[in-house]
Amino acid sequence: MLNQAMPLDPRPPAVTARRTPLALRQCCDSYVCPVCDQIVELTDFRQVVWHQRPGHKPMEMDG
Ligand SMILES: [Zn+2]
Repeated sequence: MLNQAMPLDPRPPAVTARRTPLALRQCCDSYVCPVCDQIVELTDFRQVVWHQRPGHKPMEMDG
């Protein structure tokens, strides 16, 4: 299913669990989580911590 070389991602997947997701697309007050594709508000500490966990699911927003 998965090709070994995905041209979409210039970087190799993080095999080791390193805590560097914030450096991926940080430009404003939010970024797209590479794990669950959910938008993470950097101003919300709970969201930041949630999306730093490897293999997590999208956070359920309760409105
Ligand atoms: Zn996430």
